[in-house]
Amino acid sequence: MKSVLSSFQMGREKIMMEGRAEGEKASAVIISKCMEFRINPTMEQKVLIWKTFGCNRFVWNYLLSERIEYEKLNRGRLLNTTPAHLKNDNPFLCEVDSMALINTQLNLNQACRKLFPKGKAPKFRKKGKDKRSYTTNCINNNIEIVHISDRENYIKLPKLGLVRIILHRDIPTEWKLKHATIKETASGKFFVSIVFDAEIEPVERMKEFERIEAFDYSMSSLVISASWKNDITGNDIRWYRNLEGRIAKEQRKLSRMQYGSANYWEQKHRIGKLHEKARNRRKDFLHKLSHKVANDFDTVIVEDINLQHMSQSLNFGKAVYDNGYGMLRTMLAYKLNDRGKVLVKVDRLFPSSKRCSICHDVNHGLRLSDREWTCKSCGTHHDRDKNATRNLQDEGKDILNRWASGDSSLILTPYGVLSEKKLHP
Ligand SMILES: [Zn+2]
Repeated sequence: MKSVLSSFQMGREKIMMEGRAEGEKASAVIISKCMEFRINPTMEQKVLIWKTFGCNRFVWNYLLSERIEYEKLNRGRLLNTTPAHLKNDNPFLCEVDSMALINTQLNLNQACRKLFPKGKAPKFRKKGKDKRSYTTNCINNNIEIVHISDRENYIKLPKLGLVRIILHRDIPTEWKLKHATIKETASGKFFVSIVFDAEIEPVERMKEFERIEAFDYSMSSLVISASWKNDITGNDIRWYRNLEGRIAKEQRKLSRMQYGSANYWEQKHRIGKLHEKARNRRKDFLHKLSHKVANDFDTVIVEDINLQHMSQSLNFGKAVYDNGYGMLRTMLAYKLNDRGKVLVKVDRLFPSSKRCSICHDVNHGLRLSDREWTCKSCGTHHDRDKNATRNLQDEGKDILNRWASGDSSLILTPYGVLSEKKLHP
């Protein structure tokens, strides 16, 4: 397995050479890192944050109606007005962070460019229904962390000034702050997600890939693997489902209430809190699971399935989103990367379920409801999930070997994800 190491290292060097001037030392690579912290704004600061949400909604709706009018007359050409021209008539816009408004405009432009050619338009935002967050950029250190003592820390934000922040973990001093998103959850908690540019040294990759494991997507228990005994999946997912039943019950109560009444908002708040609880449980569970998997294996193989497509076409709906296979893959990727390991992504077109793992004959007649089947070619009786996992494992190992022999149709990203190049256009 020694040869695998050197090729991995070489491949990485090659990736990092791209986009750099010749002769320049390709020693480090810049990647984005994101961290989220709880913040405790004062009442005054909260009011300003709420005002910013409102102004963003105002700018979005105003510019959107402008763009829709313009699109009717000038098909295919996007009007690119900025929030600045609204400030004369609406002086309240000057009170809030101007970068937040510009980011709203940029998001709107992106949405229009995507939807106008299809004859559609972005939606107008409605009070009480839009997301409660805004993003601001760091220019000339206008956003920074201010340490007072171990227990007392602040984040300096435009217009808001110093906001108390709970630094539950250290931020490496060499990371460069790029932008920050301030958000309020349904239960009235405030958070800030900060995105940094981190210059990282090439990771010292694993010397041997002994412990290789494939994790196949499974709706009932999230993931299944060939040999790993997952003692944590089953129970935790059920917990979440129980909570879901309660959400549905409270939702039914809401539907019988008068829209806009005091009871209505109180109930809405209650439901928001339950959703938040469910989200937190899921996130916590996924962190624990990915942490364990990243420790237990040298390299992990996953499917590059398109979950959005899957939930729409197969009518799985929420079940697919709920257990967050996508979120798990993201967490696994960075946790493996931090440990100098690799995540292998297998092409979504690979017939992992339909292929016989013994003779590689593809059973095109296999339906989703078939939990067990017998291979027509070699007569092996298969358990659907076990067969799929075995296939995934074989294909993943094949990718690792191809990479080791310098196959140029594969790519290893700076985030430690190894896959076919065409998956990353
Ligand atoms: Zn067979």
